[in-house]
Amino acid sequence: MQADLEMVKALLDGSRKVVVLTGAGTSAESGVPTFRGRDGLWKTHRAEDLARPDSFANNPELVWEFYNWRREMVGKCKPNAAHEALAEMERQIPNFLLITQNVDGLHSLAGNRKVVEMHGSLWRLKCTVCAHVREDRSRLPPVPECPVCGHLLRPGVVWFGEPLVPGVLRLAIEQINSADVFLSVGTSNLVQPAASFYQLAKDHGAVTVEINLEPTVNTGFMDFALHGKAGEILPELVTGF
Ligand code: NAD
Ligand code: ZN
Repeated sequence: MQADLEMVKALLDGSRKVVVLTGAGTSAESGVPTFRGRDGLWKTHRAEDLARPDSFANNPELVWEFYNWRREMVGKCKPNAAHEALAEMERQIPNFLLITQNVDGLHSLAGNRKVVEMHGSLWRLKCTVCAHVREDRSRLPPVPECPVCGHLLRPGVVWFGEPLVPGVLRLAIEQINSADVFLSVGTSNLVQPAASFYQLAKDHGAVTVEINLEPTVNTGFMDFALHGKAGEILPELVTGF
């Protein structure tokens, strides 16, 4: 792996445009549980079963209890070495874009400026009826209501089965199509369309690199696969970090 690591580092040093896709594994070392790891349980519910529009429609109290718990937990987490290395990478590479599936806001806290939050943010609230949207990190009531129309607020995240935030996919595709290097970090590559971004990058001539704790369904298709902790591998790829 050391030889591959050196090659990827040289590749990044010489590249002008890099697109990085991150997933829950990037925040694991900050103490944010992933959905599919052994920590992906909340009380007796699978996190994946709560992050759904039908769960919210059937039981908004339960889904809000889960999200209020996540907001409180993630609010105490700090960016880790993987986030810091990606912030430094943005400062060094002329054209850099970070696309994240994470909703924890840790990339921005670490200092990345060009961040696309594909799945929204835990810190955003949206009205279920009117157009009210706001960023809010404060402690919320058990079931928060819209200050404009009085209906239910919901977390500003994209749930399983919902469309992405408008414009996000077009921007991601545009940027990936002209990248020299595409890095996929800490994602199991089971959630579409992000799991197929590597294919777009490859079709347009980018070198593709996976960094993940373990092999994923995409590993065999990547030019390089570096397996281990993102917080240990990424700092080694950034010069002077
Ligand atoms: P996932 O849970 O499906 O996969 C995480 C991957 O990260 C796994 O393959 C795991 O092996 C790997 N991993 C774990 N620790 C790692 C480490 N230290 N370094 C490198 N890799 C590590 O996550 P996903 O693919 O992002 O899909 C989950 C969905 O759930 C996303 O769409 C996301 O919106 C949401 N989610 C977000 C957060 C967050 O914001 N931090 C947390 C959980 C889930
Ligand atoms: Zn409203």
